[in-house]
Amino acid sequence: MADAHPVEPVEFTYVPSREATDLVSLRDRYGLWIDGKFRAPASKRFLTTVNPATEEPLAEVAEGGERDVDRAVRAARRAFETWGRLPGKERAKYLYRIARMLQERAREFAVLETLDGGKPIKEARDVDLPLVAAHFFYYAGWADKLEYAFPGVRPAPLGVAGQIIPWNFPMLMLAWKVAPALAAGNTVVLKPAETTPLTALAFAQLTAEADLPPGVVNIVTGAGETGAALVRHPGVDKIAFTGSTAVGKLIQKAVAGTPKRLTLELGGKAPHVIFEDAPVDQAIEGVINGIFFNQGHVCCAGSRLFVQESIADRFVDKLKRRLSTLRVGDPLDKNTDIGAINSPEQLDKITELVESGIEEGAEIYQPACRLPDRGYFFAPTLFTGVSQSHRIAQEEIFGPVLSIMTFRTPDEAVEKANNTPYGLSAGVWTTKGSRILWMADRLKAGVVWANTYNKFDPASPFGGYQESGFGREGGRHGLLPYLEGVPR
Ligand code: ADP
Repeated sequence: MADAHPVEPVEFTYVPSREATDLVSLRDRYGLWIDGKFRAPASKRFLTTVNPATEEPLAEVAEGGERDVDRAVRAARRAFETWGRLPGKERAKYLYRIARMLQERAREFAVLETLDGGKPIKEARDVDLPLVAAHFFYYAGWADKLEYAFPGVRPAPLGVAGQIIPWNFPMLMLAWKVAPALAAGNTVVLKPAETTPLTALAFAQLTAEADLPPGVVNIVTGAGETGAALVRHPGVDKIAFTGSTAVGKLIQKAVAGTPKRLTLELGGKAPHVIFEDAPVDQAIEGVINGIFFNQGHVCCAGSRLFVQESIADRFVDKLKRRLSTLRVGDPLDKNTDIGAINSPEQLDKITELVESGIEEGAEIYQPACRLPDRGYFFAPTLFTGVSQSHRIAQEEIFGPVLSIMTFRTPDEAVEKANNTPYGLSAGVWTTKGSRILWMADRLKAGVVWANTYNKFDPASPFGGYQESGFGREGGRHGLLPYLEGVPR
């Protein structure tokens, strides 16, 4: 694609508008949340969680060892004896209470999410936390209606669910895991990611304030080894994992041959397909949201853009112009569009893949933007002249980097879009309804968005196939992995 029209940078200046942090109170050090209390870890080990926008330490959190995981699983088993027998309408009361408290304290949780993870406050505040509360409300509604959800059978909880979540949407992934598990009558041991444990620990305290019986929710912080100990534990009936495909494969191996149930929500390399009849300005916003939301730390990010050749030059020009208006910087500033990269390891991974794109011959574009001196940041990046075999077209970058390719016919779009081992999500932009349905039938993806992108609702099931995993979260389908005796 030739750079036919030069791109004029557009510059807006905004007065800083920093969200206050005084709503958040942090301890210097956190134990493990087991049986309704913070407990010192038997491992005696702690790790430090830092603010990725400033590199400053926020708190120390326990690194749970084998004995700690065992203690948490036992607490969850004891609690299951009562919780699992509680009438659904009683469980619902707790879930509604938690949902309401999350709404009341949404601002505090949003600030904490931004401090610990680096995402822009406007996203934590306007997307993550509203969806978190909505998820608890939604599953509270199902708790006393399980026999209506699955008529003709007797749904029963499984027991103890071990849940392992990533760092890109810490509270939202907690909600996706904890709400359906509890609604179905299970108890949980949840392991947050090592770089973003603080909102899960704040949630632990919130469950106590909601009078949730001790042991129903246990939070064991730590890194991969702690997660592996949870996966191995014989007292766990089900493992729910969201994270990388590599770790998902390890977990699948560890669970094979055991009676444990498993759901995996793994990586993605989503195609975002723009037809020549698409509403261009809306599609530009969809593409921007698809790849730059949460710094591209999104498993369903629209990271491969396919633009129909007839409009490609014009579309890419507009996209570059739009890129130059994105504000990168302090995640606590309400004007910020792109916050901090979650960790130095992730920044290295993004940098390495971007370098491979340049070496393999793709053409890079980054708008002129000043990155903060401290913290982990990466400028929004586009690649044109990308071919299917380039690593940036194949591997999940999990950063603010878009690889742009073109197509001529719908068949070619489908073939190129499906040229990936993943299958989590896809996006299509066209004004023709029939073409949307035609594409949705052929795209290998668990979710297909049409004329929009990254839209979430607790009533809508989400999940992938192929190397993006299996099992669904959200909707009535999201209850299935937590129930016995239901048709699968
Ligand atoms: P990401 O690339 O998103 O960091 P990971 O798959 O490494 O994804 O991490 C997702 C979650 O899985 C984190 O909570 C992490 O600590 C945990 N984890 C990492 N390795 C293992 C493992 N071998 N077994 C279980 N959990 C693990």
